[in-house]
Amino acid sequence: MVELLNLLASTSGYLYFQCPSLRQYAIEKWGLPEYTAADMVTVARKSLEIPELLSTLQRGQTSLSKLRRICSVITLKDKAEWLDLAEKGTNRDIEKAVAAARPQPVDESLNYKDDNLSELRVGLNEETRKNLERIRDLLSQKNGRAVTLSECLEQMTKIVLEKMDPLKKAERATKRRAAKCEKLGTCQIRKFIRARRKLPARVEHAINLRDQAQCAHVNHQGQRCPNRRWLHRHHLKPVSMGGDDGVANLRSLCSGHHRLVHFQEKENLS
Ligand SMILES: [Zn+2]
Ligand SMILES: [Zn+2]
Repeated sequence: MVELLNLLASTSGYLYFQCPSLRQYAIEKWGLPEYTAADMVTVARKSLEIPELLSTLQRGQTSLSKLRRICSVITLKDKAEWLDLAEKGTNRDIEKAVAAARPQPVDESLNYKDDNLSELRVGLNEETRKNLERIRDLLSQKNGRAVTLSECLEQMTKIVLEKMDPLKKAERATKRRAAKCEKLGTCQIRKFIRARRKLPARVEHAINLRDQAQCAHVNHQGQRCPNRRWLHRHHLKPVSMGGDDGVANLRSLCSGHHRLVHFQEKENLS
C-alpha cells in the first residue's frame, strides 16, 4: 500500500480518483483510519526523497510506525544510522533519538474540558513569552485588575480576527460602503482596472461574503469542503479564454480542490 501511495505521490495520481490529497485518497478509497493514512502518506512521501525507507519496509525488518517516527529527522546524509535504528531499536529508543535530534519542547494540544471550556497547551519562545507578558500588563492596566492568561488570549484572538479575517473585513467594508452610498445618494462606479493576481478589494470582499471565506467545492455526496485555509481564487472561465475577474467568474477553492479542478479541466479537454 505504501508503495502504491509512493507511486501516486510521485505522479499526483490521486487526482484521477477525484481526491484533493493523497491522505484523502487513502481514507476514502481504502477506508483507512485517519492516523494510519497519515503514517502511510508520511512514509510514502519521504520515500520520494529517501527510497531506502520503502525498501526497508518491504524487507519487513521494521514497522510502519517506526519509519514514520524517523521521517521528521532523517536526511540523505544520516539515513544509514536512522534506518539501522528503525530496524534494531525499540519504539522507545527511536522516540528518544528523534526527540534528541529535533527537540520538541511541548506537544501542542487543545482539548475540551466541558461545552464551553477548553484546555490549551503550547510552547512559546522567549520573544513570544515576553510579548505575552507585556500584553498581560497592558490589559491589567486597562482593566484596573490582574487579568488571566485566558483573558489575554480572548482579547488577542478577537483583535487578530477583527484585523485579519477576510470575512470580517468584507462585512466592515460593505457596511462602510452602504453608509457612504446613503450619504452620496448614488454609488460612484469606479473604472475597473484589470490586473492579474491582485483583485480589487471590493471583489475580494464580495467573494468572501458569498463563499463565507471557505472552500466552495462540493463533493459527489453533496458535502461542502470545510477548508478555510490556503484559499485560492479560481476562474470558472479561464482568463486565457476570455474569463474576467468579476465576482460571478471567481470561486474560493482550497489549494487541494483548486489542483483537482484544474486537473479535471485538463482531463476534459484532452
Ligand atoms: Zn484556477
Ligand atoms: Zn476544498
